[in-house]
Amino acid sequence: VGRCGVKFLPGFKNKLGTLAVYFIFYIGGFQPIRAFARYFLIHHNEKFSNIFPFQIRKRRFQSIQILAYHRINSQKDEYFSAIDIPRFENQVAYLVEKFRIVPAKEGVQRLLEGDLPPNCVIVTFDDGYRDNFTNAFPILKKYNVDATFFLATGCLNGSDVLWHDQVCCAIRKTIRTTLDLSDFNGKKYVLSSDRLREQAIHSVLWDLREIPNERRKIWGRIVLERLGILETSMDPPKNPLMLNWHEARSLREGGMTFGAHTVTHPILSQTTIEEAKQEIENSKLAIETHLQLQVESFAYPSGRKADFNEKIKELVKESGFACAFSMIYGSNEFGVDPFALRRIPVGNWDLPYFEKVLAWSKF
Ligand SMILES: [Zn+2]
Repeated sequence: VGRCGVKFLPGFKNKLGTLAVYFIFYIGGFQPIRAFARYFLIHHNEKFSNIFPFQIRKRRFQSIQILAYHRINSQKDEYFSAIDIPRFENQVAYLVEKFRIVPAKEGVQRLLEGDLPPNCVIVTFDDGYRDNFTNAFPILKKYNVDATFFLATGCLNGSDVLWHDQVCCAIRKTIRTTLDLSDFNGKKYVLSSDRLREQAIHSVLWDLREIPNERRKIWGRIVLERLGILETSMDPPKNPLMLNWHEARSLREGGMTFGAHTVTHPILSQTTIEEAKQEIENSKLAIETHLQLQVESFAYPSGRKADFNEKIKELVKESGFACAFSMIYGSNEFGVDPFALRRIPVGNWDLPYFEKVLAWSKF
């Protein structure tokens, strides 16, 4: 017994542990526990492939995965995370080979009707970065992919950048080495290295998202002032950060579709109802006017659970949208709330990692 015990116990423990993780993953339970199980399976799956030679797939319901992209460029800028262009191309080629990429409208409609073909994916881009046009668009065209672009329309005039990018630009560019915000969030930032600046960006943006929009606007301006950066100096006119309407029209002519993403990218749960209504309706109207098309989908800025609520969902519905996309992680099964669709934010991942995320985020 002793000998056998010594020999089999480690393997036995492994199997039990893995079984427990699979159990939590499939049964569900608390979201954080499930998220941990997902993380574990993504990172350690191949270790256990000898134990579970077949990947068990939950096939009870059809589901659709909606990928969320932001910037696509190879600048390797530590402050502005982006997906490297060749990596983006690999990801798109993989999707085209293994999945069926459907336009947002068709995908959501078929999901709601319970009429989804297997392995469906929707590709979306948020905010309206210019590199979506210069870098992503040629690849999307090459592979004949229909993507949906959610535009924050206040920045498409060719001069403005979004408020969170302003903060990011200012902390990166400033020659000052400290930022004292003790009268705002009780913190003093030292900006003497890239690492400290990155941490400062993360912390300042995090705290700005948590306050009412009116205060956020005021403190956003104060942050720029204290860093000695002018709002107007943000965007180099020769190489603007955001799309303009002319480029958006080219995307449209190339078969891409569009959704609204507010005008100034506020956290909608932190705005007044009147302000939220204006932001939602005016972004829809701007796209419809400039691009001559019907806008039926909406994406919540930031899109975490705390960034929108029932009232905001109601406003989106009333403004004539058919569906709304969040940044809540996961895939969408039949019966999902069409005004709180889940998405999977894509990172600068190589293909094996991208594959794993797609495989495990399916459930
Ligand atoms: Zn956004």
